[in-house]
Amino acid sequence: MNMHNNELWTKAVAFHGHICPGIVVGYRASTKVLELLGLSGKLIGDTHNAIVENDVCGVDGVQIVTGCTLGNDSLIIENHGKFAFAWVDKKTRAGFRLLLKVPLWKTNEPLELHQKVKLGTATPEEKQSFISIRGQRGQELMELSDDELFKVEAIARKVPGKPRLHPFVKCAQCEESFMEPWAQTIEGKILCPVCRN
Ligand SMILES: [Zn+2]
Ligand SMILES: [Zn+2]
Repeated sequence: MNMHNNELWTKAVAFHGHICPGIVVGYRASTKVLELLGLSGKLIGDTHNAIVENDVCGVDGVQIVTGCTLGNDSLIIENHGKFAFAWVDKKTRAGFRLLLKVPLWKTNEPLELHQKVKLGTATPEEKQSFISIRGQRGQELMELSDDELFKVEAIARKVPGKPRLHPFVKCAQCEESFMEPWAQTIEGKILCPVCRN
């Protein structure tokens, strides 16, 4: 797949910050599901829920391509550590789950480098090497077909809605306002989660 002139891909990379296998998989799963739903090029956050089974790079692709975001409550993270992404219609409950069929990484070497980068113990050369392996693997995955990348299954699932906005109360100690479900009254004083620790 030639991505050089693809505006949406450019946007996804800009949003995510780098090219890596994860963003490629999240982007490809999202464009594929829109095609399966007959909604290519549309944002479906109003009508669909995305259910993602990890909370890493690919989730940014899901948010930018399908418009199912954490903030608009159409993105549900059920972290099973799997590279699986599903979308279901909020009304009909019908949708698709796409599971990555190929390894995200070919070996564990980039993961060891990643760990060093995150812990701050990587040398500049190791950091550079990680960035280059990450980009290369992203490119390799981009070149695979949808069939090579994903196992696709039709699913039906109800995602129960839950209210996320609540009345505000004020913490007796820090005097900051916060939403009531996070409040605890201790010795007659309303306290926020930060102040009662
Ligand atoms: Zn990434
Ligand atoms: Zn407080």
